[in-house]
Amino acid sequence: MRQPDSITAAPRITKRGRELLRDPLLNKDTAFSDAERTIFGLHGLLPPWIADLDTQIAQIIVNVRRQATDLDRYVYLESLHDRNETLYYRVLLTHLEELTPIIYTPTVGHACTQFSEIFQRPRGLYLSADQRGQFATILNNWPENDVEVIVVSDGSRILGLGDLGANGMGIPIGKLALYVLAAGLHPQRTLPVLIDVGTNNVALRADPLYLGLRQPRSVSADYAATVDEFMQAAHARWPRALIQFEDFSNDQAFTLLDRYRDQLLCFNDDIQGTGAVTLAGILSALRILDQRLSEQRIVFLGAGAAARGIADSIVAGMMAEDGLTLDAARRRIWTIDSQGLVTVNRTDELSEHKRPFAQDAPPLDDLIAVIHAVQPTILIGVSGQAGSFNETVIRAMQQYCPRPILFPLSNPTSKAECTAAQVDSWTNGAALFASGSPFPPILRTGQLVTPSQCNNLYIFPGVGQGVVSCQSCCVTDGMFYIAARTLAGMVSDAQLAQGRLYPDLTQIRDISLQIAIAVAELAFAENLAGIARPDDLTAFIKARFFEPSYQAYDAV
Ligand code: NAD
Repeated sequence: MRQPDSITAAPRITKRGRELLRDPLLNKDTAFSDAERTIFGLHGLLPPWIADLDTQIAQIIVNVRRQATDLDRYVYLESLHDRNETLYYRVLLTHLEELTPIIYTPTVGHACTQFSEIFQRPRGLYLSADQRGQFATILNNWPENDVEVIVVSDGSRILGLGDLGANGMGIPIGKLALYVLAAGLHPQRTLPVLIDVGTNNVALRADPLYLGLRQPRSVSADYAATVDEFMQAAHARWPRALIQFEDFSNDQAFTLLDRYRDQLLCFNDDIQGTGAVTLAGILSALRILDQRLSEQRIVFLGAGAAARGIADSIVAGMMAEDGLTLDAARRRIWTIDSQGLVTVNRTDELSEHKRPFAQDAPPLDDLIAVIHAVQPTILIGVSGQAGSFNETVIRAMQQYCPRPILFPLSNPTSKAECTAAQVDSWTNGAALFASGSPFPPILRTGQLVTPSQCNNLYIFPGVGQGVVSCQSCCVTDGMFYIAARTLAGMVSDAQLAQGRLYPDLTQIRDISLQIAIAVAELAFAENLAGIARPDDLTAFIKARFFEPSYQAYDAV
């Protein structure tokens, strides 16, 4: 059995002059010391003032804040990302709550819709269907031999925005920035990938600036062969790398996960990560209500990837926490799609992923009818239908349940089923609320209360760090369950007293560390790990965390 790796400290510097300044992993901009400027031939290439990291952060923040729009802030921060990664990550870490919504949801959705226009420098790997047969060669163009996490998308379902083709690359880039930020993955060991099989977005194909293949998406066998070539080539080049599927349309998401989950180290964040983070929020809400998971009746508006992932996680929770059978747990969940309540007797052909949650019940067309029939205690929105949790819906729910758990999760903000302020006013603050995209604080009895955000960021970086740190051979549902439990356990009583369902995002590195430890422990216990268990697992995983700070360089 292999012994654990450790990440080497400072890289050996062979670059000098402008080449060094143009390497974002090594560049320090104005923070190169006088001695370094001499050794690496930088005098004259930089202004004379030698800044420290804090001064540089202050300068960046002034510039971020004076941008006119969040999209401008995104563009500005991405140019910093491409220039100086240490500074980029330090700025993000020191201004986490302000900047996470800029580099990820909701702004990243807007950035993806405009991706061709705001494109500056390429980042990550593009693999297009017309290059089939050459993927292994193309992967060799990537300069890093030690990739640990790959986030891959085919751009077919970007957030709630639909098919954005190659413009979806903003998502893998953003998710990997979150990996570095939250769970200390080394940026050099991350790889964003966009598999371009065309787009069915006609407006994009007609856009003269569009960066991707101008053809309709490949289908069935062609599509499967393209993804398969990527999976095999990536595994051959980086056998230890975790592959995270991201924003694939649900007709592909389930198929790909089922095909690869037992063969390769991979997971789907839209399904499994969403399931775990939502379960964690529900467990916190139940701590406030002092109720059991198995007592709940849960209605989903939307029956796609997110709904299935969340429903499976809730079922796993009901079975593990309260001893329900699989069937009894599933019967407590009702799903609604664009055709109405998902039932066993529906005349349209139900997709495979919807069948386990089809109820043996009469047909019902709309949400209100389902609420009166089911009398739910939990309502989850994963439909992408803005405004569908209106006042009538929420008041109907409250007739049966004085303190409903309401999770309008659709992203970006413009797609949310309702807002935090609406729920607060319609339920007089009684509802337990979490949303997919962040909402501004609400004034409640003279106090500003920040609405909880059910953010996948709480889960996937920790799970990813956990599996790659112990070189697990696979990612199991048990790992996501333990991640959800760990996260829920980190919400303090004081936070619960304010109705907060998740810990502060400012704690994200500690949260990810605790999740990584729990996940790795499970991998060791279940003999899935590829290394011997380090005596001090906490210290081992902590030591793997990339700290964005400047190190003194020496010439080789
Ligand atoms: P999806 O495309 O797989 O599923 C969407 C579902 O909504 C489908 O079942 C569809 O039939 C249903 N739907 C569409 N119109 C409807 C209508 N009028 N009434 C009822 N149902 C309708 O998408 P997904 O991956 O499941 O994601 C759904 C939403 O959830 C997205 O907006 C996504 O951004 C969001 N999401 C949030 C989080 C989070 O908050 N942590 C995580 C994942 C996904």
